[in-house]
Amino acid sequence: MKFENLEKLFVHELKDLYSAENQLLKVLPKMIDRSNNDELRQAFQHHLAETKQQVGRLETIFAKMDFKPRGEHCKGMAGLIAESEDLLSSEIAPEVLDAALISAAQRFEHYEMAGYGTARAFAQKLGHQDAADLLQQTLEEEGVADRTLSRLAEKRLNFEAMTA
Ligand code: FE
Ligand code: ZN
Ligand code: FE
Repeated sequence: MKFENLEKLFVHELKDLYSAENQLLKVLPKMIDRSNNDELRQAFQHHLAETKQQVGRLETIFAKMDFKPRGEHCKGMAGLIAESEDLLSSEIAPEVLDAALISAAQRFEHYEMAGYGTARAFAQKLGHQDAADLLQQTLEEEGVADRTLSRLAEKRLNFEAMTA
């Protein structure tokens, strides 16, 4: 692959995010199944619905820029998911599992936030204001998802894991 200008790198970043989101679409239902706490399950369900919209936003950008979102596999997200699967397949108490699910999910969110922040900055620089606005919307959702998980962990779930 050749990156002769920022536009090419921008397209690469978008494809990478598209792959990351699609990987998450497969993994979030498993995390919902494994959750032992209603609020945590709801938080994941809510973020699954948002993730579908986020995929839609990226598709809107791709359609407008007239290219196909293919050809990229996000190895970063694949690695984070592989790590979380190691943990989830180990012998783990239910309360500890909830804390582990949060730990994994927050890594996903932070990875996405880094990607969206960069992509939004590139979009602005390149004069793609519509794309920048859509990327900003997703960036904010990822931030809210991350803070919701922090709140759940700090409010109760870390404590429950400690006393399990
Ligand atoms: Fe996302
Ligand atoms: Zn990646
Ligand atoms: Fe996310």
